[in-house]
Amino acid sequence: MGGHDRRTVRDLRRSNRAAVLRRLYFEGPLSRQELAPATGLSSGSISNVATELLAEGVLEQAGSVGSDGGRPRRLLRVAPHCACLVGVDVGETRVRVELFDLMLGEVARSEQPLDADGHDAEFVVRLIEKGLTAVLAHVDAATGPLLGVGVGVPGIVEHPADGGALVHGQTIGWDAVPLEAMLRESAGFPGGRFPNSGRTDGDRVPLYIGNGAKTLGQAEMWFGAGRGARDAVIALIGSGVGACVVTGGEPYAGASSSAGEWGHTVLSVGGRACRCGARGCLEAYVGAGAVLERW
Ligand SMILES: [Zn+2]
Repeated sequence: MGGHDRRTVRDLRRSNRAAVLRRLYFEGPLSRQELAPATGLSSGSISNVATELLAEGVLEQAGSVGSDGGRPRRLLRVAPHCACLVGVDVGETRVRVELFDLMLGEVARSEQPLDADGHDAEFVVRLIEKGLTAVLAHVDAATGPLLGVGVGVPGIVEHPADGGALVHGQTIGWDAVPLEAMLRESAGFPGGRFPNSGRTDGDRVPLYIGNGAKTLGQAEMWFGAGRGARDAVIALIGSGVGACVVTGGEPYAGASSSAGEWGHTVLSVGGRACRCGARGCLEAYVGAGAVLERW
C-alpha cells in the first residue's frame, strides 16, 4: 500500500472519530443506534469507533434507556476527565485564568486584578503567565492532558496569513499587539501538551485568541441560550460593549473581523464623551462606567 492510501485510511479513521466525538460532546449522551443517523456513519463504523474510544478512556458508559420492549440501549458520553483545557479572559478590570475538564467543569481558577491603566501588553502577558502557572499546577494524571488554551480579549483580533494573532484594542491602547507570539515566548506558556506528566512529546499546545464578545457568543451557541439556533445576536455589556452576530450557525466575522464591534458606533452626534476620545458612542451610554457615572 502506498503512502497516499495509508494517509487516506488514517484521515478516514480520524474524521469518523471526530464525527462521533463531536455529536457526543454537544448532544450526548447518545446510544450507538442514535449516533449512526446523526453522523451518517454505518452502524459497523460506529461500533468500531466507540469500542476504540471506550478503550482509550475518551468515552464512557452513561447508563441505558429502554427501547420499546427490545434490548435496552446503552448510552455513551465523553468522559469529562479524559483531558483538560484552559480559558483566559482578559477583562477590563482583571485577568481570569481557569482550568476546565473537557465538559467545562471548573478544576482551578486564578484571578489577577488590573488597575485602571493596567492594560500595558507586557503587564497583561505577565498576569496571564502567572495565572497559567497557578492553574497548570493542577494538571496531572487525574485531569488528563492539556488540549489547548483559549484567550478572549477586549479588541479586534487579526489573524494574518503568515500566522500569529495580532490584537487591536482601541480602549485599552493596543495597536497590533502580537499577543500570540508574546504568549508563546513567555516562560509560563506550556511547551507541550502534557505539563507535569513527565511526557514531552514536543507537541505545541494549540493557542486560540479571539474577541471576548465573540468567544462568549460561541459558548452560548454551543452550551447556552443559543443551542439549536442558526441566527442570533449575543450582547456583552460590561465596562465595554460588544456583540457576537451569528448567521447561518457561524459567527459572522465581517470583512475586517470587526463585525459586532459596536461599542464605538456613534449613536448621538456630539453626545457624551467616550473614553476612546470620540463623542456619542454606544459605550458612553450603556457601558458600566457610563451607567455608574449617572447613578
Ligand atoms: Zn467610543
